This record gives sequence, C-alpha cells and structure tokens, in this order.
Amino acid sequence: MKIALFGGTFDPVHLGHLAVARAAAEKFGLGRVYFTPADLPPHKQKRKLTDFQHRFAMLALATADDPRFVPSLLDAHTGHPNYSINTVRRLKSTLKKTDKLYFLIGIDAFKDISTWRQPEELLSEVEFIVVSRPGHSLADVGRALPESLRPTDLMLRAMRRQQAEGTIELTGATLHLLGAVREKVSSTQIRAAAANRSMKQLSRYVPSLVAEYIKKENLYLGGSAEKDGAREDKMLSFQDARHHGHAGRSHKNG
Ligand code: ATP
Ligand code: MG
Repeated sequence: MKIALFGGTFDPVHLGHLAVARAAAEKFGLGRVYFTPADLPPHKQKRKLTDFQHRFAMLALATADDPRFVPSLLDAHTGHPNYSINTVRRLKSTLKKTDKLYFLIGIDAFKDISTWRQPEELLSEVEFIVVSRPGHSLADVGRALPESLRPTDLMLRAMRRQQAEGTIELTGATLHLLGAVREKVSSTQIRAAAANRSMKQLSRYVPSLVAEYIKKENLYLGGSAEKDGAREDKMLSFQDARHHGHAGRSHKNG
C-alpha cells in the first residue's frame, strides 16, 4: 500500500490540511494518510500549543469520514522533541516490504527543511510530496534543499521554468510537486476567528464537527493565556471528570 506521513501541529486541523491530503491521495493512489500531530515540535513555538488530546480529538473528527485518513499517535508523548527523521524511521520499521512511504508537506514548511534534524538523511529515507500553498511558490523547492543536495544554478533555473507539477529526481532526494492546492487557510487564522467567537468564520475553515468541538471546549478563547474558565473546562473533560468525579480539582499529587 502507498502511505503518506503528514505531520504538523494541527492546532487546529482545517480544510487546507484535508485538501492537501485529498489531492495527494488522489494523485498518488494513497491508501493511507497518517495525520500525525507533534506533541513536542522541535522548533520553539512562540505560543503554547493546545493540549495534544484536543488537537488529536479534532483530527479524529475531521478524518472520520474518509477511510484513507487516520489520526496517528506516532508523535504522542515520546518524551523527546518530535524529529521527523525519527518518526519516519519508526513508521518504516512497522511497514511491509510491499508498502511505500511518502512524506507529505506544504511548501511553506518545506522551505525550512534545511534547519531540520539530519535533513539529508530524512530526504534519502523517504520520497517527498511537496504541495502548493497560497503565498508561497513551489519554484522555491530546489533552493530550500540542504546545500549538499542543492542543484546547480543552471538546474535550478530549468526547474523554475517547469510547471509546478511533476517529479524532481536528485541524487539523494526525490520530490514530487503537487501544485493543485489553493486553500487560503491557516490554523493561525482559525485561532483568531475562535478568539473573536466568530462561528460563521470558523465553519468556513474547519469541518462542522471541529467547529462544534472548538466551541464546546472553549478552545482558543484568550490567545495563548486562556481564561481560567476555559482551563477548568479542559480539566473536566480530560482528567478530573474521570479521576475526581465532578466535584472539582483534587490537590493530591499523582
Ligand atoms: P499555523 O498557522 O499554526 O502554522 P498551519 O495552517 O500552517 O498552522 P500546520 O499544522 O503548521 O498548519 O501545517 C501542517 C502541514 O500542513 C505543513 O506541512 C503545512 O505546510 C501544511 N499546510 C497547512 N495549511 C496548508 C494549506 N492551506 N495549503 C497547503 N499546505 C498546508
Ligand atoms: Mg504552519
């Protein structure tokens, strides 16, 4: 089976992510796309991420109606920063010989690939599907490569003249370009819509079940420092309801 690993913070998952997965699944005949939220993204985030459990729950809701799309716990609670090279190797070790793994990524994220851990090794472990995103050019894909893999200027120019589709085969990397996705949406924008309590905007950018979930769990209300009320709700949903009944938080440790 052809399988893609699709990583991100997914805070929250949105219609852009789903469009990326759908376009790749159709073009490459993928039988599975693992949406893999990072528990601890290696690059420092400017803001505190939403609890992993919430991000995972939203992914489960968003992927429920497509049998190819599966939310993955590969990068959950490993206790270490989630370096893609490790995730890919861990996933590959579970696959059959007949399976083929791709790494699915948007061009904005791919532009940072050189700053990732062991980018050359990662690029040689797995073929990449790099997908277009409004505001970024797929023509930058060659320039983004780590220096040791970067094509010559002449090749770069030739690549840029090509249409933003097709496959680039280099020694040490295979990049499939997919230029069909034009979803102008980001999680950043959705967090802002939720903070403004704009349900109308929210439901334009996320599946309706995800919009409902954001609303009932009071997510993204107060920017990075959520209001105490929202925090309390989260405790009830995930821990306190189970361990302490509904009487509120216990002060016992453990
Ligand atoms: P944020 O605004 O918090 O950075 P985001 O919308 O960029 O969120 P991420 O979780 O950072 O979402 O992205 C996960 C992966 O999905 C990345 O590879 C990213 O490039 C890709 N991606 C996200 N949104 C789009 C989009 N609208 N079009 C194409 N690719 C996208
Ligand atoms: Mg992003």
